[in-house]
Amino acid sequence: MRPEDDCQRCRLCEGRARLVMPDGDPRSPLALVGEAPGAKEDEQGRPFVGRSGKLLDRLLEEEGLSRSTVYITNTVKCRPPGNRAPTQEEMDVCFPFLEEELADRVVIITLGRSAARDLLRRDVRLKDEVNRPQEITIRGSKKLLIPAYHPAASIYNAKVKDSLRETFRIARTCLEDRRTFLSKGT
Ligand code: SF4
Repeated sequence: MRPEDDCQRCRLCEGRARLVMPDGDPRSPLALVGEAPGAKEDEQGRPFVGRSGKLLDRLLEEEGLSRSTVYITNTVKCRPPGNRAPTQEEMDVCFPFLEEELADRVVIITLGRSAARDLLRRDVRLKDEVNRPQEITIRGSKKLLIPAYHPAASIYNAKVKDSLRETFRIARTCLEDRRTFLSKGT
């Protein structure tokens, strides 16, 4: 299931220029899930193309990954007004699209608190949970979810950049071990 071009299931349709659909490799076992499109993403229709997106690309490449080898999406496909965080209600309405996107992934990195909350279905204290993989089930299939900081938080913060580098290292290790993980049952 994909959101139809004129999806109006929630009020975020009112302020968007365009839907922001996923980017990267549609068959990648590794997904990155951000919060919501910002102004640049709304203009271009691609996730993570602004300043934090450029930083994300650089950090991925430093850890042997790239935008073309991962799958990148957001909890909601339309930009919230004034770059506010999406509400739980908006994320819930958009969730079936996200669920479909993630059904075949093995490892999911959530970027920022909203994305972690959306997929863990509970409140999250990011500083206590960042880089601690945990198991979730999507459509009956087990995944490993790694909560991470949003790249925007790392622009002026070297510790957050290091934390994101660590996130990507953990994700690579989890993918290398995926046969072991999946053999426990999906
Ligand atoms: S955020 Fe999702 S549910 Fe809401 S209008 Fe956009 S595509 Fe539809």
